[in-house]
Amino acid sequence: MMMNDCFYCENGDKLKSLMIEVCKLDYSTVYLNRDQKHKGRCIVMFKDHKTEYFQLTPEENKGYFGELAKVAQAVWNLYQPDKINYATFGDGVPHVHVHVVPKYEGGLQWGEAFHDDVDKVLLPEEEYKEMVEELRKEILG
Ligand SMILES: [Zn+2]
Repeated sequence: MMMNDCFYCENGDKLKSLMIEVCKLDYSTVYLNRDQKHKGRCIVMFKDHKTEYFQLTPEENKGYFGELAKVAQAVWNLYQPDKINYATFGDGVPHVHVHVVPKYEGGLQWGEAFHDDVDKVLLPEEEYKEMVEELRKEILG
């Protein structure tokens, strides 16, 4: 796959229509998912265009997954889910990224794999802005 076929690398309108940048860390960039049907859903994208975890060096793996855990902790602290789901698919967009999806007992898709085949929940821009701010603070400490 060419780098310019990847909307994560491209960092253009397509990406911005789906997510909002929260912050950049050493090994990753954190995004807030615009579809908030799972309150607090974020994406943690590896900094370079690699498509499989085994293509990362051991140091990159350690750094990336450490940051992923840190983001999950921030989501946990802020939105108090009962479990966080972590998902990597990437058939269509193979750039290494993990969906951090908070699940709430008795709530949407509790007890099953989360999926996007239901209506999106989009928020007013002001609410995204607040979430981005609180996530940034919680992640960067
Ligand atoms: Zn890419």
